[in-house]
Amino acid sequence: MNPRETVVFENGRLAVPDHPAIPYIEGDGIGPDIWKAASRVIDRAVELCWQGERSIVWEEILAGEKAFEETGQWLPPETLEDLRKHRIGIKGPLTTPVGEGFRSLNVTLRQKLDLYACVRPVRWFQGVPSPVREPWKVDMVVFRENTEDVYAGLELEAGSEEALALRAFLQERFGWDIREDAALGVKPISRTGSRRLIRAALEFAVSRGRKSVTLVHKGNIQKFTEGAFRNWGYALAREAYPDKTVAWEDLGENGPGDRVLIKDAIADIFFQQALTRSDEFDVIATMNLNGDYISDALAAQVGGIGMAPGANINYEQGFALFEATHGTAPKYAGQDKVNPSSLILSGAMMLEHMGWSEAARRIERGLESAFARKTVTYDLARLMEGAREVSCSRFADVVCSAMAEEPDGAA
Ligand code: NAD
Repeated sequence: MNPRETVVFENGRLAVPDHPAIPYIEGDGIGPDIWKAASRVIDRAVELCWQGERSIVWEEILAGEKAFEETGQWLPPETLEDLRKHRIGIKGPLTTPVGEGFRSLNVTLRQKLDLYACVRPVRWFQGVPSPVREPWKVDMVVFRENTEDVYAGLELEAGSEEALALRAFLQERFGWDIREDAALGVKPISRTGSRRLIRAALEFAVSRGRKSVTLVHKGNIQKFTEGAFRNWGYALAREAYPDKTVAWEDLGENGPGDRVLIKDAIADIFFQQALTRSDEFDVIATMNLNGDYISDALAAQVGGIGMAPGANINYEQGFALFEATHGTAPKYAGQDKVNPSSLILSGAMMLEHMGWSEAARRIERGLESAFARKTVTYDLARLMEGAREVSCSRFADVVCSAMAEEPDGAA
């Protein structure tokens, strides 16, 4: 058995040993099916690249229904401790318990670990059915702020004592005229929260040689929140990456050269142009609500939610939780039927984050090959002409075989 070692975060950098212990949450509903498939693909990719010199030592941690059955708690404190200790984790989807005092286990995990960046890469794989004509033009990475905006949960119910008190204060202090039966919500967008998210997007773009970062906002209407996000973004790029980025308005005749172009787009225009001129966008930095809509809309352009990987990351403390972005699809639970690609690709993102990029690339090529052969799960098979429908576990077999068939055989 391989030794069990721990990922360390020191001086702002991850140090990943050859046999890191990595915690995983299997997830509810279809979670066990997709976890079995995805972990097999991840392990196989690592084995093919390093023949045992590197491996992941998986360590199960509990959350959701399984945690409740075994411990009486939906999110046992040890789960958070393990994630803190190991820095990196991966999870399947979790049921949100109704009326248990928290809005969602996912939101709680993000808040407890202050995972401020929700990172969603969106690209098309050849052969995957898409509702748009030129899906190959989509290759974007969305950085969505995860802790602020209308998601902060600062809401007061219409007609409540609190809502009426706040309304009275706003009337008196600012002269704001708000209807008496209005619900009220607060939308915090801080400079601190915006800058750390935008810094992550800029750092990603600069270090990966990406073309541009687009700040997506509704600053034309919400000047002091969304407009400020835009302004803080341009200011940060000028301050932190003066040689490696260039703002759209500072662009000379020679174009950006090898610098990352910083631009911005009003959210509604962005939605149009992401469809009509997808290749003009690359890295996206945006706030929580815009980011929620944008991530799922872009995922739909390249084949839907069963395909979209994601991660929630705190770059300053080195915490990262990779996850399937779809839900628990309860009607398919235990049927070995659904598409495990979202969790497989989240695993590839995790390997990339660990610096094990060869294995990440190998997984992507394995998936490319499975899609090109049209050997796919039911959700894609029903939209593909001449497809062979396979189960979730069989799909993992196909990806593993495709990875092993690669001629180079090693990293
Ligand atoms: P869902 O994602 O579970 O299902 C939406 C649709 O997509 C369904 O038709 C489902 O069958 C299909 N689908 C989902 N994943 C698929 C896959 N991998 N392959 C093929 N088809 C797939 O969303 P929902 O029905 O709104 O939510 C069900 C439960 O999941 C709720 O309890 C919700 O709280 C939870 N949820 C969890 C997460 C998460 O953990 N990140 C995200 C969303 C919803």
